[in-house]
Amino acid sequence: MKLAPHLHRLGNDIVASYLVDTDEGITLVDAGLPGHWNDLQRELEAIGKTPADIRGLILTHGDSDHVGFAERLRREHGVPVFVHAADAQRARTGEKPKTPMGRMKLGATLGFFGYALRKNGMRTTYVKEVVEVRDGDVLDLPGAPVVIGMPGHSPGSIAVHIPAADAVFVGDALTTRHVLTGREGLQPAPFTDDPAEASASLERLAALKASWVLPGHGAPWRGSPADVAAAVRAGTA
Ligand SMILES: [Zn+2]
Repeated sequence: MKLAPHLHRLGNDIVASYLVDTDEGITLVDAGLPGHWNDLQRELEAIGKTPADIRGLILTHGDSDHVGFAERLRREHGVPVFVHAADAQRARTGEKPKTPMGRMKLGATLGFFGYALRKNGMRTTYVKEVVEVRDGDVLDLPGAPVVIGMPGHSPGSIAVHIPAADAVFVGDALTTRHVLTGREGLQPAPFTDDPAEASASLERLAALKASWVLPGHGAPWRGSPADVAAAVRAGTA
């Protein structure tokens, strides 16, 4: 789905990842669920591109619903997979602490896990080789993505700012649709390791200039990242 001239979304409001298309090639942010492989091929075809045009895949963190087709893309097409050093182990093995699920609504929860099942979410292949990144890195990829450390959801959660796409990709640093309750609007994401730390990290978005804030779950949010921290905290209530 095309959001803007250089900006495409794969997946849907339940699980999303993103494609940035520039003259230098394609940068992907997150790899959704394994079954999103077909969505990726369709989107590439729609814009007249192939996997050979993909220069790199950046993971906002190492959780399985973001690692989806990463290893397949790396293995079959030699695409490097970037992840923050503190989430490298999670992306390679799936190891993570258990977090309480909190409040949930049956329909939304079943919707999330049902969708994950249909997209082979229970059969994640973790990533054998990753390139580790750190806060402040500017990656040598199309769009010159900037890494912003956003610890909290996981220790190595990052936001990715791509000025060429006028967008900040926030992974699960926040959500616009709670996968377990179905509630829409800016709010903290579930399955978060350290909610207080995640909340503090949101301040890091305040300095960024962009028109889109794009989460791993929920509708794309149009607006300034500067307004996000306060809105997410208001969404907790
Ligand atoms: Zn997620």
